[in-house]
Amino acid sequence: MKMRRQSLSRTLAALLALLLPTLPSAQPVTKPAVSAGKSQAKQGPKAKVRIVATGGTIAGAQGDSGSYGYKSGTFKVEDLIQGVPHLEKLATLSGEQVVNIGSQDMNDAVWLKLASRVNALLASPDVDGLVVTHGTDTLEETAYFLDLVVKSDKPVVLVGSMRPATAVSADGPANLYNGVAVAASPEARGRGVLVVINDEIHAARNVTKMNTTNVETFHSPNRGPAGLVNTGAITWMDPVDRKHTKATEFSVKGLESLPRVDILYAHANMSPDLIEAAVEHGAQGLVIAGVGDGNMTQESIDTLEKVQKEHGVAVVRSSRVPTGLVLRDNEINDDQKGFVASGEFNPPKARVLLQLALTKTCRPERIQRMFDEY
Ligand code: GLU
Repeated sequence: MKMRRQSLSRTLAALLALLLPTLPSAQPVTKPAVSAGKSQAKQGPKAKVRIVATGGTIAGAQGDSGSYGYKSGTFKVEDLIQGVPHLEKLATLSGEQVVNIGSQDMNDAVWLKLASRVNALLASPDVDGLVVTHGTDTLEETAYFLDLVVKSDKPVVLVGSMRPATAVSADGPANLYNGVAVAASPEARGRGVLVVINDEIHAARNVTKMNTTNVETFHSPNRGPAGLVNTGAITWMDPVDRKHTKATEFSVKGLESLPRVDILYAHANMSPDLIEAAVEHGAQGLVIAGVGDGNMTQESIDTLEKVQKEHGVAVVRSSRVPTGLVLRDNEINDDQKGFVASGEFNPPKARVLLQLALTKTCRPERIQRMFDEY
């Protein structure tokens, strides 16, 4: 009897999970927002928003067993669009699939393909804004890569989710709804690439994933969010004061690959062996996820100075600490050693910027200038 009741409740739970994404959610706010600085999806001619899908949990499904495990990138872009009630009221939508992968498998080749496609789409008068759906693991890296190589003012918004589409309380539909609202908003133009998740808007440059599984995982720890978005109603905060998109010196035109840059994680008793191994395997740049203010063992510092001076390897000191800046010439003499201080950039963001910097130069002072400007 107990067994029968258990299997009935399991069947009901499975049915509910399947139905949930198709149930109507809260209606979009239709009243104009009250406070200055707030905006929402406008009435009148609808913006044309293209959804470019890459996979991730937002397109993921739980396994048949009903267990917690799930597979990223199961649903296609059409399923995502159809799974969000009232989405078509915000914008005229179209979609395409670039890849369908878990974002742990994101790589340079997909970045180059995605960036070229995004630039081509944004150059068309048929596209007013773009939403890129993406797994959350490396979402911040793809967002910042696009922020540095997209050549348009039109909104580009990355959206992910922490729970798969079939989960009870899936967060993907609300995130996609808000992402489309932001991509359709004329006020999102010129703000650089944005990340919309969990009712917040973040600048690609500032955002990072802070919790392994919670829906409240994306934060901009040093600067706070770029805005808030609740059922499509947007409140903007101060715009980013650093160069992005059209103002950068970077371009993916003609690029067939990106320079190899590795991240090495510092810790007590850090040995320099992995630094040497990375250089032997072809790393042209190294980012150190340093202790504290971008620090590491003396042996590691000495080895980095050597690979910088003897092999021209670019060395960026970032930090494994989630907030604060890595200051230049503070505890370590960067001028003398030829190092670059990452400032606000965490290790994965520093890696993205260094990859692009190395397409232009390997001189530390020029790379430092880029870290100060972007
Ligand atoms: N590892 C998967 C990915 O990044 C799941 C994480 C997620 O999307 O939330 O695609």
